[in-house]
Amino acid sequence: MHIHNDLQNEPGLSGLFDSVVYFSDEKQLTPVVPRALVRRGPFLAPYDYGPGITDRRQWVLRLSQACPAHCAYCYIKAVFPDAPPRFFYSLSDLDQELAVIKAQEKHPYINAGENADSFAFDEQAKQSLILYELARKHPDCTFELRTKLPSRVCRDFFLQPALMNLIIAVSLNPAEISSAYEIGADSLEERLSALEGFYQHGYRISLRLDPLIYSRDFEKHYGSLFFRLDEFGIRKFSDIQIGGLRFARNQYAALAREKLPPDFLSGEFVKGLDGKWRYFIDVRLKMYAFLLERLKRCGVPVSLSNETAKCHRRLGL
Ligand code: SF4
Repeated sequence: MHIHNDLQNEPGLSGLFDSVVYFSDEKQLTPVVPRALVRRGPFLAPYDYGPGITDRRQWVLRLSQACPAHCAYCYIKAVFPDAPPRFFYSLSDLDQELAVIKAQEKHPYINAGENADSFAFDEQAKQSLILYELARKHPDCTFELRTKLPSRVCRDFFLQPALMNLIIAVSLNPAEISSAYEIGADSLEERLSALEGFYQHGYRISLRLDPLIYSRDFEKHYGSLFFRLDEFGIRKFSDIQIGGLRFARNQYAALAREKLPPDFLSGEFVKGLDGKWRYFIDVRLKMYAFLLERLKRCGVPVSLSNETAKCHRRLGL
């Protein structure tokens, strides 16, 4: 695989924003012309939860188009159905956008794993070093590197000291569910093993049990995940967020193209005020209550992701 990467010649990280960089399509390995790597719209957009949904205020960082992990439930396939993964490099624009946001808002929270996994492009683009440099330059912003591919982190990432405004947030599902629906992502064990490396290096690590996928064996699957998390040390996490499976309306066509295990869409879904489809509230409450009972004992702050005020109320959150 030929990679042209001027970053490799940089003595330090300070040149990242001016570097001329490459991208290779994963399948064809053909370089894409640089013009295609200039992001046309803004890199940062406020997370739009839609009416009736409560969650943390955050900005979504859109460094790339498509994600190579191809999780079965991911909305990205519906947005970019045939697009090859692509990483944008017009990073000086991003720096300017951050300056504008900071002038309006104290301590912005930047989610760098919503539009693609935060480490998806590390092999080709040293994406984690770019995010590191952003966090270093903007200590008044918090950057969440959300991931199901932490094992892809480039080795150079650990040459730098840990930053307290850069959080490594791993998204986990039980091994059986992960191997069925997250086939391009790291296995549960690979995620936990890589996460231990971040933790040992001094990073804050967070846990995202999101999206929870319901099945008849829900309690068995998620019970075994808790058993594994106890072995890992659940108190190592600085916070935990849980959230149920949800779909945007235009995702159904993309889902129909997948060869999904029969359990996946066997539950009934209900459309919320925000236009997304979720399990019926009783199913969601059952899942959340099962997890909360175990999580509350461990003393780590827990919150609910992308949920209604009614759900929060019913769970006492
Ligand atoms: S890792 Fe995240 S962004 Fe990538 S396909 Fe899976 S859910 Fe989507």
